[in-house]
Amino acid sequence: MPRSIDFNHPALVGRELEYVAQSIVAGQISGDGSFTKKCHAYLEQTLGVQKALLTTSCTHALEMMAILLDIQPGDEVIIPDFTFVSTVNAFVLRGARPVFVDIRPDTLNLDETKLAQAITPRTKAIVPVHYAGVGCEMDAILEIATQRGIPVVEDNAHGLFGKYKGRYLGTFGVMAAQSFHETKNFSCGEGGALLINDEKYIERAEIIREKGTNRSRFFRGQVDKYTWVDIGSSYLPSDVLAAFLFGQLEMREKIQTHRRRVWETYWAGLQAWAQANGVRLPLVPAHTEQAWHMFYLLLPDLETRQRFIRHLRERGIYAVFHYLPLHLSEMGRKFGGKPGDCPVTEAVSDRLVRLPFYNDLTGDDQQFVIQAVQEFAC
Ligand SMILES: *Cc1c(COP(=O)(O)O)cnc(C)c1O
Repeated sequence: MPRSIDFNHPALVGRELEYVAQSIVAGQISGDGSFTKKCHAYLEQTLGVQKALLTTSCTHALEMMAILLDIQPGDEVIIPDFTFVSTVNAFVLRGARPVFVDIRPDTLNLDETKLAQAITPRTKAIVPVHYAGVGCEMDAILEIATQRGIPVVEDNAHGLFGKYKGRYLGTFGVMAAQSFHETKNFSCGEGGALLINDEKYIERAEIIREKGTNRSRFFRGQVDKYTWVDIGSSYLPSDVLAAFLFGQLEMREKIQTHRRRVWETYWAGLQAWAQANGVRLPLVPAHTEQAWHMFYLLLPDLETRQRFIRHLRERGIYAVFHYLPLHLSEMGRKFGGKPGDCPVTEAVSDRLVRLPFYNDLTGDDQQFVIQAVQEFAC
């Protein structure tokens, strides 16, 4: 049979199935059961955040942030132009107007030198995304935000356990959103978490996550009735999913060690080829520790990128590109986006490709990918 290497592949890395069975036998498979609490404690203790709340997705954690920041119609929110749709949609759902800022050509993160000029009296949030799990320039971003009194919330979908200047990503903003989608380092299929670093958001976050009720306080015995107290939705995942996720989180060392090896093997195997072909490999500044989320290549142009993807596909290898510039999307244009607004994003979006990268990618398969890449001439 010819070899086929997917872009992503879900893997069991530890005791996920045992924990799923335990959660069912224990008799609570709705939200906030014992495995959800284990995940909360793990994230709070490991990262040192005040509160971690599992959510049904990173998208939903972002939606909760927008509600907690009290985003109103007409408010502006600053978002990097190069990110997943959910980063912006969560705020637009509340009526916000997105202001897209271009990215740095090196890390592909929000360009902090373009931040100040994007701020207006209506700016209500700044949402850095730690692309590929490499930290944004948080010192500069926080300095500008603090001067203007604007909250920073992080989309840390790629960056769990990555660090900027020795400090965990997801602990810089007043809140951060994590993803446990199938394609992320740690997964339960579909899932996420809201991390809270400012105490003032905790109680309302629990309410919003529980359909706008004070159910969490009721279960802690802090109120004697549980009732409707605010807007909200159903943002808590089943404990079955939390059980699966906990089986992955507790294998953090194993997962991250494997992913580091995959990343470093691509790096070592492709450096000479990249130099000879005018291809740029990922750039990780010395003051950051990346989360080993992905390995991307920047090819010379769109035509070469498309030819490269076809070349790999003919060999059974599925490489993908992502993030069309948000300002040029159908929705982005409704907010006034036009060609030339974010030139770095526009160029990168045409040239970027991601290589297969997952928790049970074997050394053999990876060598097959590296060889196939080396056979390609730009
Ligand atoms: C994956 C991803 C999301 C959305 O995560 P879900 O858990 O699928 O909702 C949001 N932002 C970024 C940057 C992502 O990569």
